[in-house]
Amino acid sequence: MGTGVAGVTGVERGWQFFMHPGPTNIPHRVLQAMQRPAVDFMGPEFVALRDRSLERLKGVLKTKKGFVIAYAASGHGAWDASIANLFSPGDKVLVCQAGYFSENWSVTARQYGVEVESVVTPERRAVDPDAVAERLAADTGHAIKAVLISQNETATGMRHPVAEVRAAMNRVKHPALYCVDTISSLASYDFRMDEWGVDLVIGGSQKGLMMPPGMSFTAVNARAWQVSLASRNPRRYWDWRPMVEDGRQVRFCGTAPIPFFYGLEAALDMIEEEGLENVFARHRRLAQATRACVRAWSQSGGPEIYSLDAEAACDSLTAVLCPAGHDADKVRNIASERYNVALGRGLGALQGRVFRIGHMGDLNEPMLLGALGGIELALAEAGMPHARGGVMAAMDSLRAPTAKAVKAA
Ligand SMILES: *Cc1c(COP(=O)(O)O)cnc(C)c1O
Repeated sequence: MGTGVAGVTGVERGWQFFMHPGPTNIPHRVLQAMQRPAVDFMGPEFVALRDRSLERLKGVLKTKKGFVIAYAASGHGAWDASIANLFSPGDKVLVCQAGYFSENWSVTARQYGVEVESVVTPERRAVDPDAVAERLAADTGHAIKAVLISQNETATGMRHPVAEVRAAMNRVKHPALYCVDTISSLASYDFRMDEWGVDLVIGGSQKGLMMPPGMSFTAVNARAWQVSLASRNPRRYWDWRPMVEDGRQVRFCGTAPIPFFYGLEAALDMIEEEGLENVFARHRRLAQATRACVRAWSQSGGPEIYSLDAEAACDSLTAVLCPAGHDADKVRNIASERYNVALGRGLGALQGRVFRIGHMGDLNEPMLLGALGGIELALAEAGMPHARGGVMAAMDSLRAPTAKAVKAA
């Protein structure tokens, strides 16, 4: 697992603690599954694998009504696909704007000539469903075609209330489509496409799904599919119509991303063997330990959890806000160069103010503790104020009795 990064002695030993909030650690099982010779992507072996994997992915999305359309593309591609297929130039969408990723979904929409209205969420707070309801209630002519939200804002480490926003839409009886980006929440914490009335979902391979970057997908229900048939956008690569027959994906624009399907099958096997709810519980446990650690550091004017709302701090990563006048990237650089702990940087307006500890995907307790130990050392070396004992607090959190694991399905 060479990284080319020099340790304290200038000699690299051991492995890197890769704690980015995407891409995430790729299990050997997934890597090995992907390493195989090419097959005929129209042949029976691949077609069966494709059908089976897309069907199983629906289990992770908790949908029976929707179906999945996958692409060889980063998550940005799935954003493009959602806008290109659902809307027409001049349409209006309402974006729950809560950070870098929701902003960038808006950027995509604007490029397609879609008018973007935003409900801007105050810094360090979760999206307010009442604010969404208020805006929709004012739209008496139903000009707003869709509400767009990111369940997990990866830039801030905050979870946004997907079910509650749907309830708000229903309360004001607004017919807008409901579109949710789950790229950094799927397979890390709960998401329920059908129960929460989500019409379109965006997902990606390289976060909770433990695969390399480069595959993304949309899940659409009958309503979103109907709306897409009326779109006047030019589209080729993202066009759902030639890819879908009888409510399921039967081809890609060009060659199918074959290795990704072998990887996806291995990842879904791993998730099923652990049990999806147990996967969530593990993420919760590791997230709680990370938050306990950061809360310990935050005493003595140290870095703190970005989310001011304890409930909204998400289980897939922790964004750590550094005290004013201190550079988050200095901590990140020391953590990386001296201790081989790789952390996410602050994005957009949070650059230099925040570092992000990813704790999603293929991760266990000692990996987390090792990384937190490296960060605590880096805080000291960076001269950033903090209280010691963060790792101890994380251990105490992990030691606390936890709910009994549910039996894997
Ligand atoms: C990572 C991420 C994306 C973008 O995915 P890419 O594969 O980098 O294009 C979009 N939305 C969210 C919430 C993400 O976390």
